[in-house]
Amino acid sequence: MPKSDLVLLAMDDEQILQLFERALTAVSYLVAIARDRPALDKALQESSPALVIISQNFNGADELEIAAGMLDRFPTQPVLLLLLKDSPAVVKKAINIGISDCLYAPLHIEEIVKTVENSIKRADRIGDWTRREVKRTTASLQHRLDELQKLDTIIDHIEDGVIIVDELSNLLSINPAARRAFGLWQEEEVKGKRVTDVLPNPDLKILLNESIHNPMPHNEIAFEDGRVLSAQCTPVPKIGMAITMQDITYLKQIDRLKNEFVHTVSHDLRSPLTAILGYVDLLDRVGPVNDQQREFIHRVQNSVQSITALVNDLLELGRIEAGFDSQKEVVPLDGIIRFTLETLGGQISDKKLNLHLNLPDEIPQMRGNPIRLRQMLDNLIGNAIKYTPENGEITIDLEVRNDQVIFRISDTGPGIPPGDQPHIFEKFYRASNVPKGVGGSGLGLAIVKSIVDNHQGRIWVDSLLGQGSTFTVVLPIYMQATAPHV
Ligand code: ADP
Repeated sequence: MPKSDLVLLAMDDEQILQLFERALTAVSYLVAIARDRPALDKALQESSPALVIISQNFNGADELEIAAGMLDRFPTQPVLLLLLKDSPAVVKKAINIGISDCLYAPLHIEEIVKTVENSIKRADRIGDWTRREVKRTTASLQHRLDELQKLDTIIDHIEDGVIIVDELSNLLSINPAARRAFGLWQEEEVKGKRVTDVLPNPDLKILLNESIHNPMPHNEIAFEDGRVLSAQCTPVPKIGMAITMQDITYLKQIDRLKNEFVHTVSHDLRSPLTAILGYVDLLDRVGPVNDQQREFIHRVQNSVQSITALVNDLLELGRIEAGFDSQKEVVPLDGIIRFTLETLGGQISDKKLNLHLNLPDEIPQMRGNPIRLRQMLDNLIGNAIKYTPENGEITIDLEVRNDQVIFRISDTGPGIPPGDQPHIFEKFYRASNVPKGVGGSGLGLAIVKSIVDNHQGRIWVDSLLGQGSTFTVVLPIYMQATAPHV
């Protein structure tokens, strides 16, 4: 088989050189000779030998040092060492620095050819494997790069705003939709800067603050021009957090129109209802009525009273949602709790309920709307009284922790089925197990939720069917300023 591989001989002993030259050319290797160091360096630079053979004491130098220097510059170059005297220490060092093989004197032609052939074959195999590995790794890196670029393109083109921040809330990425939403028109480099410095929006700040306690907070981000975004934080392991935002301005507008409609209708219903109630009340004063007529009058009065209560609740909800009473002042919480309990005390004793009050020694003041905070407590405690059967227990806890007031209102009522729990704060929703004869409009908790939202708080329910319910409200003592809502 013809071999045209080049073998470079770094040797200075003429006899040995001739022997090698003869042996290798006889089996069709090309042979180049370097008799000294400069010739060796030149040959290595100008050609790519398949194998270099360095003889011991080449040019009076340390052959291992020459080989090590060569492998430093050309790490994949196969190098063979020709040892003229047996020296296990040299062989050991040679293997350590990456020499392919060693040849030992006395030399035989067949042995020279066999060792050279083996070294070149092994080097070819390693070369093939390396090329295949490099190709495979490059292909896989390219694939990953393509995927990343695809992801970038998708994020850049989606209509929703996407902001990625690291664990210290520094910006890692912001897509064009988010840039447009926050009016970040210049293509200035914002990566690495604190997100709240680049996007100084109070609602965004609240959302990020909330993500410290709540793993997936949600908040609406309002802008002065009336736009509203619905924003959601999602933790991204080992990176930080992704904030995704959808423009819900049109939904807000529809909601506002609907609320205005409900408000107008409720308002217009109030006067005729008052008139009906007034005239019905007068009926038995203007002439004698029989028992059946009195019973009918009583039913009309009850019905008109529940419609009036519903209309009043709707008007209240409309006012709270429109943010008409967003003015906040310093509210003494002890006063509010006292007023509520005085108002509802009669109902508590009528039903022979046991009330447990766990209040701290010092009840703090907080920033809020006193009328609405009272309404919140009235509705929650009112529900506990309404739904708990006679002789039941009602417990009211107040705790102050980390600049937050925590109210817990527990009862031993019927509880709320798990399937109904996510919906009870929606307007007009009543759970499937409301006890017979217990009236209500399904608006009380919607009002409570709106009040809690207006105070930047949170509310949730824990309930076990047949055992009772606990409503927990967490309100910040010092509310943060927010952008005006539509
Ligand atoms: P309602 O006027 O029906 O009381 P709410 O909005 O106040 O309306 O409450 C919504 C629903 O949540 C109620 O209809 C009831 O099913 C359930 N609920 C509220 N509070 C309690 C409670 N303390 N115990 C049991 N169920 C409750």
